[in-house]
Amino acid sequence: MATGNINVTAENIFPIIKKFLYSDHEIFLRELISNATDATLKLKHLSKLGEVTGEIGEPILEVKVDKDAKEIRIIDQGIGMTGEEVEKYINQVAFSGAEEFVEKYKDKVEDSGIIGHFGLGFYSAFMVADKVEIFTKSFQEGSKAVRWECDGSPQYTLEETDKEDRGTEIVLHIAEDSEEFLDKAKIEGLLSKYNKFMPIPIKFGTREETIKSDEPVAEGEEPKEEKIVVDNFINNPNPAWTKKPSELEDQDYKNFYRELYPMQFEEPLFHIHLNVDYPFNLTGILYFPKLTKNMDPQKDKIQLYQNQVFVTDNVEGIVPDFLQMLRGVIDSPDIPLNVSRSYLQADGAVKKISSYITRKVADKLNSLFKNDRKSFEEKWDDIKVIIEYGMLSEEKFFEKAQKFALYPTVNGEYFIFDELIEKIKENQTDKDGKTVVLYASDKKAQHSFIEAAKEKNYEVLLLDSPIVSHLIQKLESTKENVTFVRVDGDHIDNLIKKDENVVSKLSEEEQETLKPIIEANVPKENYTVQLEAMDSNANPFIITIPEFMRRMKEMSATGGGGMFGMGNMPEMYNLVVNTNNDMVASILNEKDEAVQKELIKQGFDLAKLSQNLLHGEELTNFIKRSFEMIKK
Ligand code: ADP
Ligand code: MG
Repeated sequence: MATGNINVTAENIFPIIKKFLYSDHEIFLRELISNATDATLKLKHLSKLGEVTGEIGEPILEVKVDKDAKEIRIIDQGIGMTGEEVEKYINQVAFSGAEEFVEKYKDKVEDSGIIGHFGLGFYSAFMVADKVEIFTKSFQEGSKAVRWECDGSPQYTLEETDKEDRGTEIVLHIAEDSEEFLDKAKIEGLLSKYNKFMPIPIKFGTREETIKSDEPVAEGEEPKEEKIVVDNFINNPNPAWTKKPSELEDQDYKNFYRELYPMQFEEPLFHIHLNVDYPFNLTGILYFPKLTKNMDPQKDKIQLYQNQVFVTDNVEGIVPDFLQMLRGVIDSPDIPLNVSRSYLQADGAVKKISSYITRKVADKLNSLFKNDRKSFEEKWDDIKVIIEYGMLSEEKFFEKAQKFALYPTVNGEYFIFDELIEKIKENQTDKDGKTVVLYASDKKAQHSFIEAAKEKNYEVLLLDSPIVSHLIQKLESTKENVTFVRVDGDHIDNLIKKDENVVSKLSEEEQETLKPIIEANVPKENYTVQLEAMDSNANPFIITIPEFMRRMKEMSATGGGGMFGMGNMPEMYNLVVNTNNDMVASILNEKDEAVQKELIKQGFDLAKLSQNLLHGEELTNFIKRSFEMIKK
């Protein structure tokens, strides 16, 4: 038996490790399982190369919890270690790794979310154990099994032991302050969080299964059910993302979605299989979920793996912001994990990964659009927010999206931008050569304006996502000679100004008399009165919402854009008075002031009503007044 001193510079490294990442004690299990997996994969590899004598079979890992003995065991059938290897890899390599780790990160505790992953290795066992034993036997022929023991001080024991099988068994003698880990449910929870897709089967106890008995039964009778005890394997060693897209059917992708998010009952809209090995290595499957208002963005996020080990579900910096609402997995050994978030965002490889993901998503959307436009159109409502957000936040995506970003009309037709302009250019270009895109945000509320536009054979888009004002702003600044106006921004003749000049029936003088009379009857904090000569069939009073003001307000409500605190401005409307409507002429000519007032009120209220602005007491009064007028 050999005893020795672990070569150590700081004698108190274990307490440091223990204190460090206090909240993250659970990583010990992932580290030890990673080591066991590595050892097994190495064995498989060597066996393929013909360097292992005999068949290796199907090696598995096993985790055992013994509450009474206060032990957790992690057992593998991998390459094992010789005595010298334990000296080298455990006493020297692992230890120096731990030391270096603590040295490097002791000032960055706030980042423990990510630096807790990897790097601490074998010695993380001491975060929960006050004594650790290793029983190990190398795969190499003739090697003797050894037992190593260490109680967390720099002294260790190394001696020969009699272990029959190849592989390593780690025994953790759980410390008093970590006894929560002796709870089977706790360990099972950790295993299914971190190791659900590890490449080597992991056995954790047994479970009961009900099967149909093969005992003979009389004809017509159902076979009896029988309970049997089977090994409980907690992982799927071959998850869908590790396979080639050509090996998978649509249903396989759906099944995998269910496996990832067992509590998600809604099917995903479609998936994107990521698979690249140069200039970085990355595999994964992303899903577009159906977005719903009551969706919890903190739940069911994209999961990041490294070689099938779960790392985190915080993919900030790795996946572009606009795709964070997607679901699925990304697996890459090339993402540096033991660095801070800000460093991550500046990392060249990570930047490439992020732009690769953006490109793949754009390509997928483009091919969906090209191959089955109808079904793409049907999904548009569910995916538009993500796409529009992407167009606003990623220039490359904006360019690519020109081929598939859709602009639906109020009639349920869908155009891409170029098609739209082609369609409306002739009819909707104004006298200054600008093509005017009309849009509505609410079919019901803006009904009368939409109808007025339709009468002129204009197309009206239905743009109702929350960030649409930002998108419009962006389109106007990138497309030449195109401007957007919401249908209720003004009277239709003013929205698209053609050359036809309508002459006013009222003289200048008459107009000057009329304006103050009307102004006296509308609240001037919210309304600007505007006299206009329009078609005599157009309504006498129309309330419009000036495009610019409205858009700025919307933009500041959804962040960015209106930097001047526009969100707090009062609502501003225009009251457009049609000087060619006969009713307006009769208001002007009315000698009885009370009647005149009543006519203005009624006209104004009707205009409000058509903009859904008449409520409460005003509405009650309006109804009363209308009945009175009918009676007369
Ligand atoms: P890392 O895994 O990053 O190399 P660790 O501290 O986790 O660092 O492990 C140190 C070394 O100990 C490993 O590289 C490996 O050589 C050896 N080792 C640890 N666990 C096992 C095991 N279960 N089987 C064989 N070798 C192991
Ligand atoms: Mg390790």
